[in-house]
Amino acid sequence: MTLAAEALQQRASAEIMAAALLAGEATISYFARTGVTMGATLDALHALQEIERRMAAIHGKANEKRRQIRVHQRAIAKKEVVIEEKQRAIQASQMEIDRIDLDVRTKDVELAKHRDALGAARTNKEYAAILTAINTEKADNTKQESRQLELMASLDTLRAECEEIVTERDAVAERKAAAESALQAYVDESADEVSRLENQRDEASKGVPPTVVATFQRIADRHDAEAMAEVLVLSVKRGEYACGGCNMAMTLQQVIGCKERDDIVLCASCGRILYLGVDGAF
Ligand SMILES: [Zn+2]
Repeated sequence: MTLAAEALQQRASAEIMAAALLAGEATISYFARTGVTMGATLDALHALQEIERRMAAIHGKANEKRRQIRVHQRAIAKKEVVIEEKQRAIQASQMEIDRIDLDVRTKDVELAKHRDALGAARTNKEYAAILTAINTEKADNTKQESRQLELMASLDTLRAECEEIVTERDAVAERKAAAESALQAYVDESADEVSRLENQRDEASKGVPPTVVATFQRIADRHDAEAMAEVLVLSVKRGEYACGGCNMAMTLQQVIGCKERDDIVLCASCGRILYLGVDGAF
């Protein structure tokens, strides 16, 4: 080994240590204590990665169903706001119609009184005054009654509109109920697979330091279950490498770190756990 290569390796070890610190634990001591090799750890992490993907696929499907339910819920809420508005308008119209009714009836009583008074009028002047009052009351009532007819027509329209929205709301509520049943069915039917995957995860985690598992989980949560990234060899000649997760360039030391498999090496940019492909050449 040349001096330059040795220096590179030393720097790589420092990187590995840094990665261990980043992972928040003294992983290396774990390997010394248990005799577990990093190769085995990476293999276990690959297994964990596959399990994580399957879990994420199941959770993703369930979440899509939950999202659909929320879409229905929002549509229902919107329709209920409109229904409430319509119901308030219906109530206001109904009250106005009732008020006019009372008004017309009061005026009718007045009219009857005036008609009686008309027969008892002593002078032409008195007769004319009562007649004017009667005509005004009649005109008022006619106006009020036509207003009432308008209100009744608009009340019918409002009621029909309200009924239509209630029907629409009920249809969405049915779709929501169906989506909820579908979610429950999916959760039930995938329960076995989830517990199988959980067992596999526990099994695969056994050979891995707990802190590495925790780091893996944290990275997986951050990157849609993709905690691992392959080192992309762009040019061996020019020493160009990149993280397969985020495409950011990697230093040679990081690549050497992966090659030596002493500890997990995290991408400095996206934080994914790096590994070399089948060739592993650099
Ligand atoms: Zn990256």
